[in-house]
Amino acid sequence: MNFVFICDFEGFMLEDQQVGEWDYQLSEDYKTVEGEYEMSETRYGFTKMSVNEFKIWIQKQGNYNYNGIQIHHTAAPSYANFYKADGSHEDELVRQNNMKSFHVNSNGWDDIAQHFTIFPNGTVVTGRSLAKTTAIGIKGWNTNKICIEIYGNFDKGKDVMSEEQKQAVIAVYGELCKKFHITPSISTLRCHAWFTAGGSFLGDYIPGRSAKTCPGTNFMGFGNSKEAIQNNFIPLVKNYMYGNSTSNTTNNTTNNTTTNFTVRVTSDTLNIRKGPGVSYGISGEIGKGEVYTIVETQNGWGKLKSGVGWINLNYTENTSNTTTSASSTVSTGNFVVKVTTSVLNIRKGPGVSYDITGSVKKGEVYTIVETQNGWGKLKSGAGWISLGYTEKLK
Ligand SMILES: [Zn+2]
Repeated sequence: MNFVFICDFEGFMLEDQQVGEWDYQLSEDYKTVEGEYEMSETRYGFTKMSVNEFKIWIQKQGNYNYNGIQIHHTAAPSYANFYKADGSHEDELVRQNNMKSFHVNSNGWDDIAQHFTIFPNGTVVTGRSLAKTTAIGIKGWNTNKICIEIYGNFDKGKDVMSEEQKQAVIAVYGELCKKFHITPSISTLRCHAWFTAGGSFLGDYIPGRSAKTCPGTNFMGFGNSKEAIQNNFIPLVKNYMYGNSTSNTTNNTTNNTTTNFTVRVTSDTLNIRKGPGVSYGISGEIGKGEVYTIVETQNGWGKLKSGVGWINLNYTENTSNTTTSASSTVSTGNFVVKVTTSVLNIRKGPGVSYDITGSVKKGEVYTIVETQNGWGKLKSGAGWISLGYTEKLK
C-alpha cells in the first residue's frame, strides 16, 4: 500500500455521475438524543448523520485500537462546490461516493482514504470502516490513526468555516477521543501540514517543506501551526470533553477594545467564564438566540456588560451593524441587498433559532420583501437571511 497524500483532489467533479443504487435506510441506531429522527441516511455504504446522531452512533462502534486523529481539509472540493447558487447544497453521500471513486479508481487505494468527512453544514458522513485501523491520510502517521477530512479550503483568503461545521468538528474530535481513550494533545491530534510528503514529522507547518497546508493556514481563524492547535484547537476539544478545561492559557492581552457592541449567541449553550479564556472558571451559561452587550474584548473573548463574566465570541454573531435591531420591527417594501460574508445561512424564520434551509454566498444579490429584527425575507420564499451580513443596494 502506497500511503500518499489525499487532499487537494484533482478531477473530483463527478457530481452528475450516478453511481450505484440508492439504498435509503433509516435505522433505530440514529435516533437523536431527543428520540426523534433527524437526517440519518445510508447510501453507497456511507451513512450521513447530524452531530447528535453521531454521538449515539459512535458509542455503538467496536473498541478498536486508535491512538491518534489526523486533521485535514479537502481544499478541493471547497465551499464553492458544496453550496449552489440557489441556496441548496450538494448531496453529501454522492460527494462521499465520488471521493471514494477517485481514491479507488484514480489513486488505486483499497477504499476511500478517510474514516469521516465533516461537511460545511455540520453533517458527518462515514467513510472507510473504523474496523480498518490504518488510515490513508498522512504518510508516516497512518497506523492506528483516524483520518478526518474537513470539507472546505481553510487557507488564508479562502473559505471561512461555518459555525455549524466548527461545532461539528469539535464534537467529532471530542467524541472520538472519548470513545478511543485518546487524550487530546499535539501528539495525538496532528495536522497533515506537520509532515513532509515523504512522511517525515516536522512538528509544525513549515511552508515549502510541509506536504500540504492541511487543515489550512486559517483553519478556524487560528491556522495550522503547532502553536495554534496547541493553544486553540486542543482546548476547544478538551473543553467539549471535560466541560471545564484547565489546559493552556492564552492570557497575553491582545486586541483590547473598549467600543460596545451587541452579539447574538449562535451555539445551543455558551459558558460564561470569569476571564477571557477556557482556563478561567465557569460563572454561568447563556443560550442560543440571546443578545448581549459586549464592553471589552480580549483574544476573541467578550466581556458582558452585566459584569457576570466573559464569553467566547466565536459562538456569537455581531448584531450591532444590523440596521433594524429594534425588537419586532416589521417593514414591507422591497429592496435589494448584496451578501458581504462568504457564506450566509438561509433560515425558516427571522432568527438563528429557526432551522437552516440553505445558504447564499458573498457577492450574490437578493430582493428582500419583508424585514423583522434585522432579518430579511427572500423574495424567492426560500427563507430569511440576517441583514447584518449584507449591504443594501437600493
Ligand atoms: Zn491532508
